[in-house]
This record gives sequence, structure tokens and C-alpha cells, in this order.
Amino acid sequence: MVQFRGILDLVLRKVLRNILSKYMALVKCNECGKAVSNVAPTCPNCGNPIQPILIEQTAKMWKGPVLIAWLVLIAGIFLFLTTNEQGKEIVKFAMYLGFFGIVVFKVIIWWNHK
Ligand SMILES: [Zn+2]
Repeated sequence: MVQFRGILDLVLRKVLRNILSKYMALVKCNECGKAVSNVAPTCPNCGNPIQPILIEQTAKMWKGPVLIAWLVLIAGIFLFLTTNEQGKEIVKFAMYLGFFGIVVFKVIIWWNHK
């Protein structure tokens, strides 16, 4: 019974180590060359970052179109309230354009967000 537990313990430890090694592996530090866990944020020996530093960013080029779309929509609402019946049809088109512009560019920003 004691022997069986010993074997079970050994097998379990081996399985556990196998699973863990898939996620936690030793990598060489780029700076000092020492073996470091790949889940460590920095090298404990020299402090060199092991994990790539992630910077959240959205392309500025897509923020401009969103701003323009908002301005078109806001201007559209303002004009809609002040213009006559004939003007309302044209302004309505601008409002739809502004609204869809915001939605489309927001989706593009979401898609390109790193
Ligand atoms: Zn290092």
C-alpha cells in the first residue's frame, strides 16, 4: 500500500510537472544569459524585462474620422432643429452619415486596437 502511494505520488508529480512546463518554461535572459522563468516579468539577476511590455494604443488616424463624424451628427441635429421642411431632408442625410460614420469608425478602432 505504501509502495502504491509512492508510485501514485511519482506519477502525479510527473503529470503535474508536464502540465506546468507547458506554461512555465525556462528561457535565457537576453542580457545576462541566465535561465529565467518565462512567466517572470523581469530577470531576477539583472532586471532585464522578460515579458514584452504591452502598450495599449489606438491608431490616431482613426480618431480624426470619429471626431468629424461626431461634428457632422451634432451639426446635423442643430440644423435639423432650425431649418425648414425642405432643408430637413438634406440634414437628415447628414445625420445618418454622421451616425453611421461613428459606428463604422468605432468598429475600425476596436478592430485595430492593440
Ligand atoms: Zn538577466
